This record gives sequence, C-alpha cells and structure tokens, in this order.
Amino acid sequence: MNTPVTGPEPSAEWHAQSAEQVLQALAVDPVQGLSSEAVAQRLRTYGHNRLPAMQGVPAWRRFLLQFHNPLIYVLLIAGGVTLALQFHVDALVILAVVLINALIGFVQEGQAEKAMDAVRGLLASRANVWRAGARQPVDAGELVPGDLVLLESGDKVPADVRLLRCKNLRITEAALTGESVPVSKHTEAVLAPAPMGDRLCMAYSGTLVATGQGMGVVVATGARTEIGQIGTLVGGVQALVTPLTRRLDQFARQITAFIVGVGAVSFAYGYWAAHLPAQELFMAVVGLAVAAIPEGLPAIVTVLLAIGTRRMARQHAIVRRLPAVEALGSVSVICSDKTGTLTQNEMTAVHLVLPGQRLRVTGAGYAPLGGFWGGDTAVQPAHTPQLLALARCAGLCNEARIELQAPANAQAQLARTPGAVGAETEAEESRAAGVWRMVGDPTEGALMTLAHKAGLSAELLSAVRRLDVIPFESEHRFMAVLVQAWADAADPEVLLKGAPEVVLRLCTHSGGQPLDGAHWQAAVADAAAQGQRVLALAQCRMPGGTRQLSMADITPRFELLGLVGIIDPPRPEAMAAVAECQWAGIRVKMITGDHALTAAAIGAQLGLATSHTLTGEDIEAMDDEALKNRVRDTDVFARASPVHKLRLVHALQAQGHLVAMTGDGVNDAPALKAANMGVAMGHKGTDAAREASDLVLTDDNFATIARAVREGRVVFDNIKKTLLFTLPTNGGEAGVILLAIFLGVALPVTAGQILWVNLITAVTLSLAFAFEPGEEGVMRHGPRPPTEPLLTRPLVLRMVFVSLLMVAVTFSVFEWELSRGSSLEMARTAAVNMLVVSELFYLFHARHFTRSAFRLETFKGNPVAIVVSLLMVAVQLLFTYAPFMQAVFQTRALSLNSWAVIGALACALFLVIELEKALLRWFGVWRM
Ligand code: ATP
Repeated sequence: MNTPVTGPEPSAEWHAQSAEQVLQALAVDPVQGLSSEAVAQRLRTYGHNRLPAMQGVPAWRRFLLQFHNPLIYVLLIAGGVTLALQFHVDALVILAVVLINALIGFVQEGQAEKAMDAVRGLLASRANVWRAGARQPVDAGELVPGDLVLLESGDKVPADVRLLRCKNLRITEAALTGESVPVSKHTEAVLAPAPMGDRLCMAYSGTLVATGQGMGVVVATGARTEIGQIGTLVGGVQALVTPLTRRLDQFARQITAFIVGVGAVSFAYGYWAAHLPAQELFMAVVGLAVAAIPEGLPAIVTVLLAIGTRRMARQHAIVRRLPAVEALGSVSVICSDKTGTLTQNEMTAVHLVLPGQRLRVTGAGYAPLGGFWGGDTAVQPAHTPQLLALARCAGLCNEARIELQAPANAQAQLARTPGAVGAETEAEESRAAGVWRMVGDPTEGALMTLAHKAGLSAELLSAVRRLDVIPFESEHRFMAVLVQAWADAADPEVLLKGAPEVVLRLCTHSGGQPLDGAHWQAAVADAAAQGQRVLALAQCRMPGGTRQLSMADITPRFELLGLVGIIDPPRPEAMAAVAECQWAGIRVKMITGDHALTAAAIGAQLGLATSHTLTGEDIEAMDDEALKNRVRDTDVFARASPVHKLRLVHALQAQGHLVAMTGDGVNDAPALKAANMGVAMGHKGTDAAREASDLVLTDDNFATIARAVREGRVVFDNIKKTLLFTLPTNGGEAGVILLAIFLGVALPVTAGQILWVNLITAVTLSLAFAFEPGEEGVMRHGPRPPTEPLLTRPLVLRMVFVSLLMVAVTFSVFEWELSRGSSLEMARTAAVNMLVVSELFYLFHARHFTRSAFRLETFKGNPVAIVVSLLMVAVQLLFTYAPFMQAVFQTRALSLNSWAVIGALACALFLVIELEKALLRWFGVWRM
C-alpha cells in the first residue's frame, strides 16, 4: 500500500460548502482545470487514485488449506495407520503423495490467482477530465484532488466529486448505500449533518451514472474516498470456484466415499472369506484407496479454467467471472450489436438528399477530402445554400472532433513530399488523409467530416455558441442543440438530427414547401436498402431569450434540411466468424438501433437470414408466447432498444438456448445480466455495461466472441479429457488390487508400488492436459447441451473399458513372468511397469476423444505430453534398476524379454482402443 493518507481530509464537509468555496480550497481554476505541473505535483503528494489491494489469504494458510479436503483426510488416515503398523516406506510414500499433491495444488492455485489478477488489471477504468483548458481521457488511477471530471450516463464515478454542473444527472449509489434507485443530483450545498444518501451535490467513487451529464471537482481519491474508507473492493474479487469445480469436487467426494465402502467390503471379504493375513490385506486396501481417489482432480480443473482465461485475454476477451469460461462452451445463440461489433465503425457520409436534389459525397474515412456530385456534375457548396444549411446543422449538432494529427512518421512522410500540405493530386491527398483522426462517436465523426468537406471549418462553426443540448440516447434516437450566433442578435435556433422516423414526425415543411412525407419516406427506404445508416437533419427558430432546451420543445414545427446516408461496412473478420459460428451450431442474431432496411442489408452481407426481420415496434406488439415462436427464425432485429434486448434474451432462454448478448450502454445492463453470457465492449462500452457483464471484449469485435467460444469449448473438452485419462488409470490401478483380493491370489503389485505409480503419474502425466491445444473440429459441431451430465455414457463406457484392459494386461504380464519361473518380485516389477507403460500409451489416446491416434499430430500436438512422458520413463528406469529403489520397493532389474512382452501388450492395448475409437466414430460419436 503506497498511498499516503495526507491532503484534503475526508471529513472536510465538501457537501456543505458552496462550489466556489470548494474550488478555492482545492486551488483550481474552473475554466482551465489543473495544469499538468499541478497534476504531477499533486500525484506525488496524494498518490494514485487506487484502492489499496485487498489483503489476500497468506501463503501458509493457502498451503494448509490444500489439506482441508475429505479426499486428503482419507489418505492421511491411511498414512497414519500404515505408520502405526510400521510399514515405514509405504507411510512415507503416502505422505509424499499428499505433500506433492498439496504442493502442486498450491503452486497451480497461485498461478491461477495470478492469471486472474492480470486479467482484472486489464479492466482499469478511464475518466474524462478537463485539464489545461481541454477535455482529455485519462486513466482513472491518475486523478488527483482538484481535477475537473466530466460524468455521463454509464460512467463509473472515478473518485469522490463535488458537483459543479448537472444536467438530469442521476446516480445509482447501490455500491455505497445499498439503495438501487438512482438519486437525482444537483449542485446546491446541503446541510453538514446530511447522511451520505442525501448529499445530493456529491458523486461518490464507485457509484454509477444512470442518466444525464455532469461535471465536478475531485475532492478525494484512492483510500480517502468514502468507498476507500469502507474498505470494500469495488469491481469484485473472483473466487476460483465455479459450478463446474463445485460439481467436480462433489463428484470426487462421492468417489472417495464409494472407495472407502469398497475398501471395507474388500477387507471383510479378504479377511473372513479368503483368509488373507490382516496386515497385508490392510495395506492392499490402503493401496486401493490411494490409487482410486482422484486427489489431484480439483486442482487441475481450476488451473485449466485459469489457463483458459489467460489464453482468452491474449485474444482480447477478458473473463470477468470464471464460470463464464464453462458457459462459453455451451453458448447456442449469440445476440450481437451491429455498429462497431459486426461493422467497422468507420462511418462515411456518402449520400445526401436535399429538398429537390440528391448528391453523392466522395472521399473515405474522416479526412475532409472529397467533394459533392450531382450525377456527373461537381457541386460547389458555397453556391448551394441547402447544402450549406445541412452541413451547418451536421457540424453544430455534433460532439465529435476531427483533427489533423501529425504523428512522427506521418510528418516525416509529409515533409518528404513537396507541396503535400496543399495536396492537389489524389496520391498526395490520400497520404495526407492518413493523419486525420476522429475523437467521438463515429456517426457524428462522419457528419463532422461532411461539414468540413462543405467548407465549414471548426472556426466557422465556432461563430455560434451553444446554449443547451439534449444529448443522443438510443431510446429517443435524436440529438438537439440550442445555438445562437455570437455576432447578430437573431433568435436562437434548435438544430436537430436523428433517426428519420423520429425527425420526419417533427417536421412540417422543407425547402419552403409543406413536407411531402411519402417522398421523404421513399428516399429513406432507398438509402437504407443499400445498407446506409440514414439520419435526418432539421432546424427551427426559438423565441428570443430562450436559454434552455427541454423535451417539451421538441414538437412538430421543424424545417427538414435533408437526409444523410452513411456507410459502415461489415468487418471482414466478422463475416468469417459468423460463418464459423453457424458451422458450430451457434445461431447469430444481430440486434441494432438502425433502420430495418439498413439492418437487413448489412445482415445479408454478413450471411444472416434476412427473409424476415423484426423491429422494436413489432416486438412490442407481441406477447411473450408469440415472441418466443418468432425469435427462432429471425436473425435481424432493428430499431431495437435495451428493453427489447431483455425480452429477446428471455424468449430465447425459454426456447432452451444458452444466450450470449452484447451491449454497451447503461440501459443494456439488465439484458447483459439476464443473458447467460453478458458481453460488454471494452472501448465504446460504458462502465455500467462492463460491470454487468461476464466477458469484456477489448477490441469490440464480434470475431473475438467466436474465438472465446472456441476457447471455452477447448477448456471444457480438456476438463473432460482429464477425467477421461485420470479415472480409467485410477480404475486400472485399483482394479488390479481388487481382483487379486477377490481371487485370493498374490497381489501383482504391492501396496507400496501402487502408491508409487500414483505418485509419479500425479506429477507427470496428469499435467499434460492443461496444455492441450484443442481438437481441430471443435467448431464443427453443435454446442454441448447445458444439461449434459459430466459423465456421459460414452465416457463411462470408455472408463470401464480401459480400466478392464489395464487390469487384463497387468495380470497377463504378472502371470507370464511367474509361469516362466521368475521370482514374485520380478513378476511384480514387470506388472508395475506394464501398468505405467499402458498409462503412458493411453495418454496419447486420451488427447482426442474418438479421433484416431495414428497421426503425426498425436506426438507433435502437445509438447508437454512428450516431456512428461520422457520424465516418466526416466523415473521408471530408476525405479527398476537403481539399487536403492530396488531395496525400497522390492523391484528387480527386468530382462529385455520382459520389456518386449510389456511393449507388445502395450501396443495391443493401443490398437484395441484405436478399434474402439473407430467403432465410436462409425456410430457418429465425436466427443464424450
Ligand atoms: P447497434 O445497436 O447496432 O450498435 P447503434 O447502437 O449504433 O446500433 P443507435 O446508436 O441506437 O444504434 O442508433 C439508432 C439510430 O439513431 C441510428 O440509426 C441513427 O439514425 C440515429 N443516431 C445514431 N447516432 C446518432 C447521433 N449521434 N445523433 C443523432 N442520431 C443518431
């Protein structure tokens, strides 16, 4: 913890002081904000705006916790009794099994925690501040007292803030007060004793802006904020427990209980029916228990999940909740936003409809290079008043900025090009175009570029002052500003832009004529059918002296200035990802705020079914039952708002689907929470959406969801493969002992030896699956039904089959050695090696469910498998030939003949499993 607790005291009652007093106390100019020197100096004084990390569980406790597990208790009891019976070597091996297992669990859990921490670190919050007279986005950790922060709907308040300006600002303070209804804020001081919930002129760190906008001055950061005082960690710490790990844990316990039962029965049988000596029998039963208890399973699964999240993070998908990794594998429908996720979000206005004429706009991207054409004739904006009026509205009713950026290499490039600044030729133009940057919403960026192309530069646009604004929201689909020219005393005017249905309804005339609704509707449909996003622009005068703009002012009295058609092409990788999802049995549905025809055109380019689309209005007209029926074969939903998303999630879930839903706005949060997999956008998304989500895309790209689904499937498959390997090998080891007891014959493998096998497979072979890259065809089959049991029928059959095979080959080698006159010790050494070699061979089979192992990939696909196999071979040679091992485990040096038989039997086992796989493939089984 390096945050010095000095500076403005939290007890300073900022809420009881006027805005001026607060600004004065914090020595900040409300117009300029802090200078960069002041920021640097305050950062040194107050430290970063971070909450002290929550104290984790200390290492020694985490290590001890590894032993807190019924599986381990059984092993420890077995070890204790073994020690009491003076079987020192066996007791030692059991202890080693337990210790090594705890160590592996401890190290792996630590790595899993680290992976999750790193992933969490990628989700750092950003804040918009006003510093040195300009708005700039900064890392929220860099805020200092005195900073002026801007708040808007969806933002998480980054520090404790005294509000200076509010517009419909409502904040949800549940994180602090537990109250989930948003509180309306104002800027007036309140009485000093007011409880936190009543300090309406304050916005507290960690709370969420529900609606509106505001600006305030930071009064406390980091540990000095109210939330820092409470000591809660906002954002939530992830537990490494998921429904799946819980299920596996429970499963391992059931197996343990079952094994203890079997052990008791075997002991009773051996003692009373087969009259075996009690001590030897007891040790055999202990060996049986240790062999069969899957003590390493829970830790391996946790690690598999954590490794999966790390791999996803590298591919731009950040898992906020670990259970999401498993759920990803079963996702059967992905509902995605269009703009920016399926499309490039690089908008260009290409088409204008003015009263009486249509124009084509040339140029691409945000560079204001290009012109206007009516058919083949170039149109001069300066001589076309209607075009100028439209462009003026586009430029003024706008929050975006385009600027000529001069990054080092671009500058150098321009410097090398004589005359590039006044570029005349196409080539020079496009080179200059590379350095134009847009800040803000892409739709508005396209309109700002349009205004610049029409000759309206930033200076010209600043000839008017903005008096008030109604910001764009997806719910009402328009934006309006109240402006007045600085120079003349003309009445103020409202400039309006938005979705054509909304704006046309508000217009009464256009180009001096009454509005011809049908004509304009047709023009809208025409542009939308080409996949263009269409905006209508309008204006109207307001009575002199009007200073504020409210929803009540937006009534049908506007003059329509025209339509702008904007293109935003689909992302090429999104097209491929949609196709891949469809292959993988996952239905992709596009939900957009855009016009139905625009949505259908883009949907068709993406390969979605567009024969019927539904609009938000259609959805509203349907009851839940009707929606449930329609949702199945509709892929495109247009003019949809967040409420519709929520209903769609419910309708799809009612159909039995596991739904992934994307969202970015504050109002998307309920749909994200309701979906099985809420997916938020890292760039354009709000903090509110991110907090409600399970998965955050740092590149806002649909293709990333598809990749995450693939990764989720691989993780789930690998967990299954771990079971597929661990359970039959445990089963084989235990089966050998069980069979010997019930046949009343000498044990082919002693208790100590079986403990040894268990020990070394735990540290070698079982780890290989954490690094398994996944089946090639993982996205060529439908998703796993969420209700599918962990142990499916093919899996159980395989387990029993392989267990029996292992028992059979082990007994065969043992009997063969005895029959050719070898000593009991020699026969046992051969049997142990047989068991180990068959496990080794089976490892390469278990890498794929039913795919043939006769491929080069079997040996090249997972290098870790090779390394652990070699390690195992080396250790096993020591076990067989090293004198001290021979003394401890009563092993004997095997002859080449013995190895030849072991090798031949292992090959036979390999072939038989290969045959079983072929049979399963023939029946169409490809996974288990
Ligand atoms: P998607 O849901 O696919 O991401 P979207 O969220 O971008 O789409 P909205 O932002 O809700 O969709 O836009 C809906 C409609 O509102 C657009 O078709 C456009 O006509 C209009 N619109 C979009 N942005 C603005 C804006 N900044 N100002 C005014 N109108 C806008």
